[in-house]
Amino acid sequence: MKNKIVLISDFDGTISKKDFFYMVIDNLLKDKKDALAPWQDYLDGKIKHIDALTGIFSQIHLTQQQLDEFISTIEVDTYFYDTAKYCMNKKIPFYICSAGTNYYIKKRIFDSLQKYNITLISNDATYSQQDGMKLVAPEQNSPYYNANTGISKQAIVQKLKDEGFFTIYAGDGKPDFKSAQIADVVFAKDMLLELCKKDNIKTKTFNDFRDILNYIRSIYEQ
Ligand SMILES: [Mg+2]
Repeated sequence: MKNKIVLISDFDGTISKKDFFYMVIDNLLKDKKDALAPWQDYLDGKIKHIDALTGIFSQIHLTQQQLDEFISTIEVDTYFYDTAKYCMNKKIPFYICSAGTNYYIKKRIFDSLQKYNITLISNDATYSQQDGMKLVAPEQNSPYYNANTGISKQAIVQKLKDEGFFTIYAGDGKPDFKSAQIADVVFAKDMLLELCKKDNIKTKTFNDFRDILNYIRSIYEQ
């Protein structure tokens, strides 16, 4: 198993402590009800996930410098770095797949992506002070395209499974559920944990990345 382990993780609420869209709503937008309306529409099945995020992020009207400073305040799980380092040293591939956007992920953890050789697969985005942030899905012919979330996390997990990897998946939300259904091992918290419980999918305790690091160590060093 040693050479065939792969770690795939969501970013928002999994590597970061709080979803970026909740940070935006709580800290930048005045009318909380209006700000949250696109998210409620998504939860009610009225609009797509990617359009809900654009609906929220397009309400940001900071200067570029203010936005960059705000992104730098995204709180990251301390043990994420230790886990990424361990994976790199043991040549375990580490993928971050996000239905958010690489716009803020790259700005927040750029050094780690480089240093620990992490593969990031997410939506692109554009930003202007006037129009806010708009998500851009991959091309429809991309192997990772999904109409709802832009990128398909499930397709990434499936591809790695097809390549013979033992897939370890970490996530916290609804867009992680289909990945959790097919992954070999699932670390789940919050809404993903609830969905897994309902669907009888076994999950591992996931308080922070220390749990993942300890698990990978235990199977790698078997
Ligand atoms: Mg998440």
